[in-house]
Amino acid sequence: MVAPESRHGIGVSPGTAAGPVVQVAPPVPPPVGEPAPADADAAVAAIRAALESVAVSLEERATGADEHAQQILKATALIARDKGLMKAATKEVGAGTGPANAIAKAVESYAVQFEQLGGYFAERVTDLRDVGARAIAAVLGAPAPGVPSFTVPSVIVAQDLAPADTAVLDRALVVGIITEGGGRTSHTAILAAQMGIPAAVQVPRATDIPTGTVVALDGDSGAVTIEPGQVFLDEQARKRELRIDAFSRATGPGATRDGHPVALLANIGGVDDAERAGGLDLEGVGLFRTEFVFLSAETAPTVEEQTEIYRQVFAPFEGRRVVVRTLDAGADKPLAFADLGEEENPALGRRGLRMSAERPDLLDAQIEALAIAARETTADVRVMAPMVATAEEAAWFARRVHENGLPKAGVMIEVPAAAMRAEHVLGEVEFGSLGTNDLAQYTMAADRMQGELADLLDPWQPAVLDMIAVAAEGAQRAGRPLGVCGESAGEPLLALVLVGLGITSLSMAPSKVPAVRVALSMHNLADCQRLAHAARSAREAGLAIEAVREAANQEFTRIL
Ligand code: PEP
Ligand code: MG
Repeated sequence: MVAPESRHGIGVSPGTAAGPVVQVAPPVPPPVGEPAPADADAAVAAIRAALESVAVSLEERATGADEHAQQILKATALIARDKGLMKAATKEVGAGTGPANAIAKAVESYAVQFEQLGGYFAERVTDLRDVGARAIAAVLGAPAPGVPSFTVPSVIVAQDLAPADTAVLDRALVVGIITEGGGRTSHTAILAAQMGIPAAVQVPRATDIPTGTVVALDGDSGAVTIEPGQVFLDEQARKRELRIDAFSRATGPGATRDGHPVALLANIGGVDDAERAGGLDLEGVGLFRTEFVFLSAETAPTVEEQTEIYRQVFAPFEGRRVVVRTLDAGADKPLAFADLGEEENPALGRRGLRMSAERPDLLDAQIEALAIAARETTADVRVMAPMVATAEEAAWFARRVHENGLPKAGVMIEVPAAAMRAEHVLGEVEFGSLGTNDLAQYTMAADRMQGELADLLDPWQPAVLDMIAVAAEGAQRAGRPLGVCGESAGEPLLALVLVGLGITSLSMAPSKVPAVRVALSMHNLADCQRLAHAARSAREAGLAIEAVREAANQEFTRIL
């Protein structure tokens, strides 16, 4: 018998799935040689109606979607109603361009302007093009690009998913997600894990798999098997049962087999996430990305508005830990009200805490609101700054947090400078958390938004592991706890390595917690240290994973 064809990508959301493929419709190109409009007014009216129908359909999808999805969809609808975009399309019609091409040209000229404006606007170019593609389809009477409707549980396949598509996927019908592009820390990856849908990115030629073909997906290893056959599916189902059985037997606080505690925490992006995670078996929140709450806000939220949100986030976690990160605006997470204008290299620019030099008002309002909400809860509220590079920055931030009566200030260790000098940086605060997404980006000088650089961004890269080890040693010398809240914390084998390097807590998408808890429960601390040594001794990332997989408890790797 011929073995079914397998393609390997990167697993970004755990679990296995099988089902028919639904290919996400690619955008319809504007027709070549589209005639000049006979009636310019009618063409302008058709464009206006198309853009309005796009806005309305985005708003309709927002109804009933969760809070985070609503934010994304409403922000995209605003672009469809942008007066400047309509004006640019009208000008094109005036110059004799047909309606579909007029939209395409207006979008492109507008995209150039957005890119020149930089910051928040430049980051909206993907949404702008998404609006353009939908409007072109509408004006041509073609099906809208994006996820079509379907009724059978299916595996969604796309080049990459637009934020607006990922945010509204029906969990009951989407059993898996596969993309040809994207990366470990791309929007699709983070959202899929947050929604608990198994997913793989960077799967070669995924968009060539015909709709309806049955595929099996492993969201841990990133393997996609085409027309797997019953034997394969039975084996996959058996493995799934073993996993579920192992997950149900390991409960409670995270710890190694010999009882070394490692807190297992959730990454969240808002009130809905907090309510979902609050009902789960985990020790609290290790990363609340506050900027996610304000993605579509046009103006800075007031202290009162923020206080109300933080109250709702803390409520499900009475008696448990909640680590709140102050706004990490800029670069890949632009906010309209925190835009400092164009920068050549936004990822190396005034993002995260650096923005506070020019906008201390934003940080002050946020800390004030957190302090008010923290006084009213028994949750153990801790406040952490993103993008800290020096001990002075850490001290400056800690002073502001402490002055507001919040006893626990912390910093993200995600810049190599802070990792190298962790002893001194962490000496200024009560705790640290490694942001391995950015630490990998900055250590390897590889843009995390660039799917093609996924290999360099692999947290198993020896240089990244060394950087983590140096930070963990510094934290130990400073006597401060150091957790991990980047995506690497949710990779079970890597989680073992991190614990072996001295990491004290792991924060991840809640769907990743059960496998990590089981991994810890099947290894002693000394095993983790041995695995860490094996990983760091390897010459390259692939060899490090292999070495750890071989040296780990085989009972565990069997269910991985
Ligand atoms: C990180 O950089 O690893 C991190 C957790 O922060 P973010 O992904 O929000 O930049
Ligand atoms: Mg980061």
